Amino acid sequence: MSMRFEDIVGQERAIATLRGTLREGRIPNAYLFEGPWGVGKTRTALALAAALVCRTGGDDACGTCEACLRVARLQHPDVRFLFPVMSDEDDPESIAEVLGEVANDPHHVFTYEKAASIRIGLTRDLLRELAYKPYEGRRRVIVLRDADRMREDQYSAMLKTLEEPGASTLWVLTTARPQRLPPTIRSRCLKVRFRPLREEEIEGYLRERAGVSAAPARLLAALAAGSLARALVLRGENVAGLRDDALRQLGAANTGDPSRVLAAAGEAASWSNREKMRRTLEFQFLLLRDLLRLKHGVGEDTLVNRDRVADLRKVASGVDVREIRRRTALLEEVVRAIDSNVTPEAAFFSAYARWGKTLPQDAVTRASTWPSWS
Ligand SMILES: [Zn+2]
Repeated sequence: MSMRFEDIVGQERAIATLRGTLREGRIPNAYLFEGPWGVGKTRTALALAAALVCRTGGDDACGTCEACLRVARLQHPDVRFLFPVMSDEDDPESIAEVLGEVANDPHHVFTYEKAASIRIGLTRDLLRELAYKPYEGRRRVIVLRDADRMREDQYSAMLKTLEEPGASTLWVLTTARPQRLPPTIRSRCLKVRFRPLREEEIEGYLRERAGVSAAPARLLAALAAGSLARALVLRGENVAGLRDDALRQLGAANTGDPSRVLAAAGEAASWSNREKMRRTLEFQFLLLRDLLRLKHGVGEDTLVNRDRVADLRKVASGVDVREIRRRTALLEEVVRAIDSNVTPEAAFFSAYARWGKTLPQDAVTRASTWPSWS
């Protein structure tokens, strides 16, 4: 896997800062990379590590020297990569397996349950190792992913090494939840902020590097809400099919026919898992966002559902901006209702039953202009 700044998606500001520091040679003892899940913090941390051990000594790794190749395989003795694991995977073989996956799969995504914590054994060995000089170069780099998942004793052990003057070790901590880190750790790190990625950046990555074709790439990028990791996780799902189901339900709701409304609500609520229900709602929100964009005359190429643009135009011609807002509010009600444990079916039914009922006399006409989406 390539570990170069040049291959990171977006994050120009964070990377410019890091490259500047490398050029000036003023590397701190510890960095804290803060930002949402799945926007490239770990990758950037590994790229920084590679740049520091790279034989060329420039402000980005060359990607081809022996040191860079070893970092890419996650086998460089001076670059350590720590990440949370479940306690039942807390053995060297499982760790090696994950490292192998990260090194070999450029689209690897870390997912773990709530209980995952940084493996203590590895940290203990590591702290012992820190007493010695780096093996090869001037520096040792420890990349610590999701540092907010460490335990109290690990923090205090780490703190000691952070306070050593003239340390040859650079710590790079990443976190999506900086407020969970002890203030004593936070205050000793130089913060670098990572932002959510833009839709077009995610779409570009999916198409150019992950082999996803145009229409699903567009949908995935919109659903990803700024997280490339989320887009990659969703990649395995039939998003186009889910989208079509979600929109077809709205078409049924819009007819105002009670039995169809009921059936649509039943279908929306039939997903046994909440994640899928949420996704249905997300697609519906995205449809409304597309309608608003059309109303405001924004270019078709910015539409999430641009593969359905003819249908969208038809729907848009039958609703005004106020009506789109009203429907958005209906969906928000569903989200709140489900979160507060109203049965999903009742929540969807309540919104779908009012979906097409917009008072103006053209309700019937509108119902007939709403496409079936199927
Ligand atoms: Zn190199």
